[in-house]
Order: sequence, then structure tokens, then C-alpha cells
Amino acid sequence: MIGTFKGGVHPPAKKELAKDKPIERMEIPDTVYVYMVNHAGAPAKVVVEKDQEVKTGQVIGEPGGFISAFVHSPVTGKVVDIKKMYHPITGRPVDTVIIQKTSDDEWEFLEGHGDYEKMDKEQILDLIKRAGIVGMGGAMFPTHVKLSPPPDKKVDTLIINGAECEPYLTIDYRTMMERTDELLTGIKIIKKVLSVDRVYIGVEDNKMGAIKKLREKMSSEGIEVVPLRTKYPQGSEKHLIYAITGRKVPRGGLPMDVGVVVQNVGTAVAIKEAVVDGKPLIERGLTVTGEAVKNPGNFIVRIGTPAKFVLDHVGLKENVERVLFGGPMMGIALRDINIPVMKGTSGITALPAKVTRSAEEMPCIRCSRCVMVCPMGLQPYLLVKLVQKKRHDDAAAIGLMDCIECGSCAFVCPSKIDHVRYIKLGKTVYKALRGAKR
Ligand code: SF4
Ligand code: SF4
Repeated sequence: MIGTFKGGVHPPAKKELAKDKPIERMEIPDTVYVYMVNHAGAPAKVVVEKDQEVKTGQVIGEPGGFISAFVHSPVTGKVVDIKKMYHPITGRPVDTVIIQKTSDDEWEFLEGHGDYEKMDKEQILDLIKRAGIVGMGGAMFPTHVKLSPPPDKKVDTLIINGAECEPYLTIDYRTMMERTDELLTGIKIIKKVLSVDRVYIGVEDNKMGAIKKLREKMSSEGIEVVPLRTKYPQGSEKHLIYAITGRKVPRGGLPMDVGVVVQNVGTAVAIKEAVVDGKPLIERGLTVTGEAVKNPGNFIVRIGTPAKFVLDHVGLKENVERVLFGGPMMGIALRDINIPVMKGTSGITALPAKVTRSAEEMPCIRCSRCVMVCPMGLQPYLLVKLVQKKRHDDAAAIGLMDCIECGSCAFVCPSKIDHVRYIKLGKTVYKALRGAKR
């Protein structure tokens, strides 16, 4: 059986640009720019000073709250400045530590790493926390928090997300193909922390090579590799859970409400590197791709590397119109290509005008295409209308906060309405108004 869900769209996959390019380690830039917001939740607090020498893996930011994460130096060098810099997700300036590389890596490894089989759950969770690991699929939710469900939530299933439904991106595919043993170790570590027996790895059926490779390595370990119908947004947690287990995460709920924890492929590998090798999260795999890139590929890049450095490495064509962190469906358009790579940056996509050019927004013609494709069962056209009229409570009543911002509605809209822009705005205003009423 091939798992799937109701709704969704079929954008051109464009995986062929980078899918057969093995992962390469990119050289390290002379200067890295490390945000203290490299995770969801409270910003980290800077714990280094200007002119201080730091080693690769040394803590430079400590968690600023319960939902927060450690941040480490991605290079061996000297802190040359600490200042506020524009952050592409928050849209605001955030504390940023700027480090100039002075030598090859001198590592500061995590204390207590080694044989996970001899560790108890708390030791493993502590290593994951001290390594600053966050969800690397894009959400950047601190992993130690996600792996610590409260006692009243009985988790019985782990799902590893290898769907990679976002067009263009291929780093998860390459990771599954090339780092299968590390992935397996990461999965075993997570399994031990959660004390679960049931483990699935979901992969879209346009990645049959990965499905075959994973089955060869994982089936004997009791891990079921589940092919999923290639459809966007198959990698959304709620849709992945439904496609694999048939369980429906309730409105406003979390995967753990239905006994499931989902972890991305890259996160599982990062967990292995932290727990077994003692490496904090200071680098990540990402795809650099798009029709405006001369030599697309998959790379391991240090956190804090400016996007421009990465793009110079692959070469840009002259027709570049837009650069995104991520892919075209859920990616963030960069207003400045010096913005640095974050822990959640799974790709950098550079597109020419012929791909990005969109017609002017026209009035809604009530065709209901957006309703038919919405994987959350929402009425996107109505959400837009209510946000435009500033009726945020009414928009919330029909599911504004349930929107996963997948962009499927905008993808099919003949009037070229950018639903996600209105919905994001509506969510921000609604949250602010709700906070003000308290
Ligand atoms: S309303 Fe939200 S969840 Fe539904 S299709 Fe649009 S972006 Fe996706
Ligand atoms: S797809 Fe566009 S035009 Fe059609 S109902 Fe939705 S918002 Fe209106």
C-alpha cells in the first residue's frame, strides 16, 4: 500500500538538477555570522565577548528559555563583533556573533559522548540538548524538547521523515543514500530515548533508490520503510502521520497527542554525530539548486556561512531573479544574499525570472480550487477575505491558526492570490490581539 492524504498538489519536482550529485563538503568561509535565533522559541543568550578566541564547537550562546537551544562556534577563530543583524524568519534584527576563522578546526567536543548503548535516556537527552540540535527539516524546534513528551502523552511510534516533498531539494535523498549507517544509528538512539518499538521511515515514491537502500539496511532492524505517494505537502508532519498510521492529529494538537514523534532524516544524523562523535550542530547538509545555478549540488556547509559564499561556490547565471532559503513552495525569499545559513536551511534555490514571474493579483472568482487542494480542509479564499477585512477572530474560528502555510492554495489559484502572505499576516495580528486581550 502507498500512503497518502486528501488534498495537495503536484508542482514540478525539479529534483533532477541535484539528485545525482553526491554530498560534498564545502570549504569554510573566512567569516561566519551566527544568529542567536537558530531555533524556534526564545533567542539564545550570547556568552562570549568581542575579541575572544573560540574553538570549533565551543558554546557561544546558551538557551534563553525552556524552548530554546545552545549555539556553538562553527569555526576556530576570533569573535570580531557581536551585533544585531536582520533575521529572515523573524523579520527583525537579532543578536549575531561574527567570528573570523584564524586556523583549521580545533574542536571542542561534547563531554560524555560515546557508546549510546551504555547511556541512559537522560544522558542521551542531555547530549542532544548540549549539542544544540533542532529540527533540520526547517521548523528548527529544539529536539531535546520534542523527545521529552510529558508523562500523560504515551508515545508508541517514531516516524522518520524522508518524504522531502519540497520541489528542487535533494539533500534528504542524498543523506538516505550516502549516510545510511549514520541514519540507522541516529534512529536507534531516538528509539531508545522514546522507548518505542514501532518505527517507520516515510519516503515519497519518486525516490525508489532510497527506498531500496533503506530497506536493505533497515528492515532487519525492525524499521519499516513506507513508500508515500509523491504529492505536496506529503512531508508535513500531520499528513505524514495520517498517511503512515491513519491517525489524525486533532485541530490545534501535536503529533504526540496521537502517540507519534516525527524526526527529519538530517536531524537523526545530527543526533548520531552528537551522541556518538561528540559533535555539536555546527554544520548541515543542504541543496544548492535552481535554474539560475550553474553547478547545482548537495553540500555540507557550516552554520553562519553567508548565502553569497555558497552561491559563489556553485556559480550563478546572469538571469537570477530570486534566491530562496528552502524551495519554491515554503521557502523564504532572501532580500539580501549575505544572509547566513541557519540550522534549518535545507536548501538555497536560485530561480530566473521565467520561473518566478507571477501575474498581478486579480479578484477571487470563487472557483474553489484552493478549497479542493487545501490539505488541512480549510477555505483559503475565505481566510484571505477575513484577514483583508481585519476580522481576525472570525478567521481564527474557521481555522486560521491550523494553516500549515504550505502554499498549495496559491499554487492553484487562477487569480494569483498569495494566500500565505495574508494568512501569515493574519496569524501575527491575531496572536498580538489575543495577547493584548489577556
Ligand atoms: S490554507 Fe494553508 S494549509 Fe491550506 S492550502 Fe493554503 S497554505 Fe496550505
Ligand atoms: S483558487 Fe483563487 S480564485 Fe479560486 S476560490 Fe481560491 S482564492 Fe478564489
